[in-house]
This record gives sequence, structure tokens and C-alpha cells, in this order.
Amino acid sequence: MRCGGCCTYLDVAIIDPAAIRADGTADPSKPLIQKPAGERCPHLAFSGEIAQCTIHHLTCYEQTPCQQFEQVGREDDFCILGGYLRAVSQR
Ligand code: SF4
Repeated sequence: MRCGGCCTYLDVAIIDPAAIRADGTADPSKPLIQKPAGERCPHLAFSGEIAQCTIHHLTCYEQTPCQQFEQVGREDDFCILGGYLRAVSQR
């Protein structure tokens, strides 16, 4: 991940942090929760300026809306969507 814009500015269904088990799977009795637009995802962390999804490598991440949201371009390309979301949020 790069800027974290999508993980902050988009309305998206995410894995409930309380549903994640020690082996990285999700408790199937706990549904996805809605992360509202403008609120930082609880799974988002920063290493300096670089945004990281802390559950990206876990089994529970598979088949989530985030996992199915495909990136366009190379991993280190300038992110047009991130720039747009930041600009819109500052209006
Ligand atoms: S689960 Fe990961 S990819 Fe999805 S919004 Fe949260 S930090 Fe971003």
C-alpha cells in the first residue's frame, strides 16, 4: 500500500478486528463491519509516510471487498485516486 487514502476516505466493509483469530482466520459468526468514509480503518498503520494494511497477509483478508479492489498500475506509481480523495476531503 502507499498513501492509505482508500483506507481512510472510502466507505468499505472490513473484517471486524474482534473477529480475527490467532491463526489469522476470521470467526465466521462475526460479519464484516462498515468503515465509514473519512474514518481511518483500524487495520491501517503507517511506517513513516507509507501506509500498510496490517491484515493484508492474513487468511481473513481473502475475499474481502478490499482484497477484490484491484490496484491500477505499479505498486510505486503515483496514485491518482489517492490524490483525488485527499483533495475532495479538504473541500
Ligand atoms: S482492511 Fe486493509 S485494505 Fe481494507 S481498508 Fe483496512 S487497511 Fe485498508
